[in-house]
Amino acid sequence: MTTYAGKLLRIDLTRSTWHEEEIPATSYRRYISARGLAAKYLYDELRPHTDPLSPDNRLVFSIGVLAGTGLQGFSKWCVTSKSPLTSTIFRSISGGNFGMWMKYAGYDLLIIQGKAPALSYVYVDTEGIRFYTADDLLGLDPDTAQKKLKERHGSRTQSTCIGLAGEKLVRYATISAGKRTAARGGMGTVMGSKNLKAIAINVPVHQSSPFDESTFAELVKGQIHMLKSHPRRENMNTFGTPYITTVVDALGVLPGKNFQEGTIPQVKDISGDVFHELKRAKAGCYHCMTRCGGMRAVAAGPLKDSMIDGPEYESIYAFGPLLGVTDRQFIIDANAACDYYGLDTISTGVSIAFACELFEKEILTATDVDGLDLSWGNKQSVLSLIEEIGKRKGVGRVLGEGVRLAAEEIGRGASSYAMHIKGLELPGYDPRGIKGYGLSMATSNIGGSHMYGRPRAELAGKIDRFAEEGKGESIAQVQKEQAVEDSLIACTFGNSGLDVEKYAQFLTAATGMEEFAEANDLLKIGERIICVERCFNVRDGFGRKDDSLPRRMTSEPMQKAGPSSGQVIENLDTLLDEYYEALGYTREGVPTAEKLRNLGIEE
Ligand code: SF4
Repeated sequence: MTTYAGKLLRIDLTRSTWHEEEIPATSYRRYISARGLAAKYLYDELRPHTDPLSPDNRLVFSIGVLAGTGLQGFSKWCVTSKSPLTSTIFRSISGGNFGMWMKYAGYDLLIIQGKAPALSYVYVDTEGIRFYTADDLLGLDPDTAQKKLKERHGSRTQSTCIGLAGEKLVRYATISAGKRTAARGGMGTVMGSKNLKAIAINVPVHQSSPFDESTFAELVKGQIHMLKSHPRRENMNTFGTPYITTVVDALGVLPGKNFQEGTIPQVKDISGDVFHELKRAKAGCYHCMTRCGGMRAVAAGPLKDSMIDGPEYESIYAFGPLLGVTDRQFIIDANAACDYYGLDTISTGVSIAFACELFEKEILTATDVDGLDLSWGNKQSVLSLIEEIGKRKGVGRVLGEGVRLAAEEIGRGASSYAMHIKGLELPGYDPRGIKGYGLSMATSNIGGSHMYGRPRAELAGKIDRFAEEGKGESIAQVQKEQAVEDSLIACTFGNSGLDVEKYAQFLTAATGMEEFAEANDLLKIGERIICVERCFNVRDGFGRKDDSLPRRMTSEPMQKAGPSSGQVIENLDTLLDEYYEALGYTREGVPTAEKLRNLGIEE
């Protein structure tokens, strides 16, 4: 007995065919599941320099081995592909029920390849897989499309789908499941490029059977008991991620006006308390008692008078301080507009902030931006730009390419104001005030993500966050840990009180695999996963030159940043050298032959 489903479903949209494949036990033993397993398949199946928007690209949905077992916070799902935004390997993680339904259907992975001749959706039930045209779903927002699929296939149907932005190939389109989204890296764009509007699944729910049932049952009981009184769980349950806003502001790393500032005087207007007051109902993912989400009412825009699950901290940052705004309701409305079109809130906010700074610097004029006034804090212009990006029209077409490509198209020095790493727009932490975060984002194999390795010790004040030495080892370590967590998938917000040792206990009881017995074994698997992801990128020409930061981070000391004022990253090279050494890579950021042998991935 094991909690693995044991097989994958491969769907070829070009041929409208499907078949099942057994997943070899060695693949599980070496990559666990979810992010790790998907990275391995993507590496093996994509030829170098594959165009991310070509039929040859793969879209790999995956679920963790501990999903649906009763453990809390382990039932999210992951989607992996080559990103149209970064051209690197990419993984995005989401809540909602879709991943569990995939596992209930009997699959640990769902690999989509090819391209349907017209907009389509795929339906999975106990009788097999069917392909349908999606004419009547064309242009629909994800929520409405999912409701239609439920009406058609039954109320127990769970689906994942894209909005208009994905259909139009905006480069940072999302994939939604329920009210949650796999937001980053343009995974919805890849889905749109395959003419795939949705995947719907309607199968019976069943419990998987752990290898050691009695030990596993005790572990589940222990986790639930611990969570009931865990202060972090209580905090997340009450406030959710919005509580982070005031913490980040106090550190002086809350990016304001396109990273020109690091604090905002009116932060209390957008604090966790304020968003708690606006919460109408709790929300959360399958099998999670943390329930960190919150339903809030929308007052304007295409989803006016409905409710969204949000905003999360990153959306507060992206439609608040980053744009010079502290209007709580506006942040909700802007978040809702992104949900409607199926846009990543971080990339959308950063792209608009980029345009606002270009407007401020007179690199763009009103004529260039469809007559809009892009002065900081002009909320109506922001809503107009979200609509233009979602519909890929006017200046929205340029901004929907992401700031890296938009800057190239605009020219005139615009790239100096494009806040991205490897093409991925930056999240809500200014790396100049947390140098380890700068290193983690610079070296991340998916670009500027805050979820590739969080420098917990620096954020907690246990390590000097301004120091530019001695960070390589600790960042390599948190990246390995994150790779393990993402391969389970242990939700970052719901894993209170857990660590790698606990994961080893869970995995051993669930699967009986001795490769998961010790924390160090898991960390080695985490290192292997990072290494495979790096090899994927190296094969396409990535290296040290790409492990970089926006010019502003290395040349402009922070201003209006409280305790972080004056901070700048002076010595990225030292940080990189330490990091590469810690992982056994060359000075060019390439894994050595010895490292590949040591990790057992010479092939
Ligand atoms: S903590 Fe929040 S995001 Fe994580 S699984 Fe629970 S509800 Fe979902």
